[in-house]
Amino acid sequence: MKVSKFGGTSVASAEQFKKVAQIIKDDPERKVVIVSAPGKRFSGDTKTTDLLIEFGEKILRNENVENELLEIINRYDNIATELGINNGVIAEITANLHALRELDRSNNQRVMDRIKASGEDNNAELFAAYMNHLEIEASYVNPQEAGIVVSDEPGNAQVLPETFENLKKLKLRSGVLIIPGFFGYSPDGELVTFSRGGSDITGSIVAAGVGATLYENFTDVDSVFSANPAVVENPRAIEELTYKEMRELSYAGFSVFHDEALIPAFRAEIPVCIKNTNNPSARGTFVVLERNYEKNPIVGIASDSGFCSIHVSKYLMNREVGFGRRLLQILEDEGLSYEHMPSGIDETSVILRERQFNNNDTETRVMERIRSELQVDSVTIKRNQAMIMVVGEGMTHQVGISAKATAAFARADVNIEMINQGSSEVSMMFAVQENDAAEAVRSLYKEYYGENVETDGLIQEVLEIK
Ligand code: ASP
Repeated sequence: MKVSKFGGTSVASAEQFKKVAQIIKDDPERKVVIVSAPGKRFSGDTKTTDLLIEFGEKILRNENVENELLEIINRYDNIATELGINNGVIAEITANLHALRELDRSNNQRVMDRIKASGEDNNAELFAAYMNHLEIEASYVNPQEAGIVVSDEPGNAQVLPETFENLKKLKLRSGVLIIPGFFGYSPDGELVTFSRGGSDITGSIVAAGVGATLYENFTDVDSVFSANPAVVENPRAIEELTYKEMRELSYAGFSVFHDEALIPAFRAEIPVCIKNTNNPSARGTFVVLERNYEKNPIVGIASDSGFCSIHVSKYLMNREVGFGRRLLQILEDEGLSYEHMPSGIDETSVILRERQFNNNDTETRVMERIRSELQVDSVTIKRNQAMIMVVGEGMTHQVGISAKATAAFARADVNIEMINQGSSEVSMMFAVQENDAAEAVRSLYKEYYGENVETDGLIQEVLEIK
């Protein structure tokens, strides 16, 4: 049994619904289907989830939402009309959407989660209706009925272990099962969504639970590329990469796959592949446990912006037992999560996502607390940073990989503000100023993949010594 997840663009219009139905018909092993909410139909279009967020925010501000409601209903209605589905499903979806205006408003986050989740929920209902219209045995399965139990963290749920056992019963059901992605239910029965893009997570959880032979993640590109095509012209397609590499790349800005989606499939050893709904015969990219590292020690180069780093310095920091813990305790008290923490003898930097400081008070308070509670010599914050990740498990087996990276930065005339490499050697992280990131990525790409890139003397020497 395969679990196939279709992302927003794959289920955005009647034309896309037809392609998805054909893909399912083509392979009887595709028994469980996870759908996103209707995504963008063309560049400049708005995702249904974004429409729903606006709708929800207006409801919470007690504003008129007639226009938003109509626009959302139209997204489903247009699909149904074009496909000739007239079995009452649109009346049901319309009623569901109207009912969202009447939700209990005592908890804003709950209201938002209910509204956001309706995007996938209604689309799953509609897709199941379409399959039945095509006389294919299929049924809509709500995540609660499927047994997807998650932590009660609105907008940021995590799957709870009992889910995997619960999902096993799906194997006994006949026909194609259509499950909405993006949400589950807390142990108390509250609907809770994953973070944005979370239908990938649902797919992975379900694939692990039913013990799928393959988890197919259908999107709108033939494969994952080794660099962002918006930055590097015609980057190489990745045929195969490991779970760890995929996780690093998605975490660091590759938007093809949610960075939290791999773990459930990985733990259950379910192979994952990323395929194109618009070109299903293309092989796609396979995510595997191990690959041959010789040819491509580096699988991809990612970059993500929106980071800041807090730089703390204090003489004899190295001898002060518990300094790091106290510093991190301040961040924990303020509800901040950090990404990296490279340190020196008398100094340490903590890198965080800048958006966590949208509220200026938090930044001022954190800086003040570090200054006064830790008695530091100085604490400064640097904004507008980008993190560039050079990812590839093959770097464990090869000498000279980081020499190439630093040479690439030098060639692009980009100053590296920080370097971090975990001991597992899956990736190297470089912090640079945001406006240098694209140039640096291009130079790195050339260094690792370019055919006619001249290597300078130093690198050549290093490689020869090896
Ligand atoms: N529709 C949700 C979003 O746009 C979840 C998803 O598509 O995976 O974030």
